[in-house]
Amino acid sequence: MAMNRVQFQKGLSMSEFLKQYGRVEQCHAALLASRWPEGFVCPHCGETHHSTFIHDGRQHWQCQACRYQTTVTAGTIFQATKLPLTLWFLAMHLLTQAKNNVAALELMRHLGVSWRRPLWLTKPLL
Ligand SMILES: [Zn+2]
Repeated sequence: MAMNRVQFQKGLSMSEFLKQYGRVEQCHAALLASRWPEGFVCPHCGETHHSTFIHDGRQHWQCQACRYQTTVTAGTIFQATKLPLTLWFLAMHLLTQAKNNVAALELMRHLGVSWRRPLWLTKPLL
């Protein structure tokens, strides 16, 4: 019987995950490396020259050509989140390491967050 290679692919243990992404700075650095692997590129004009500053505890990048300001989470699924990146990374880890689906309520219990039903789920479709 042939081995299912997908089923036996190497995963990331929880202890290794926590070593790599257990702190906000580590998640921020991972997101930064993923979003701008060659360094900052202005999403507005494509310029790479920039300056950075901290505002409200978050690092911002400002393009030197067009003065466009952005953060590493702007324009991503993490935009406007009130939860720390570590919680989102942990959620992604749990979702990707599970053999089967992870129920929203199970994820809620693991992460210690509440889950509010989206408005479109609470209203009847008709
Ligand atoms: Zn720009």
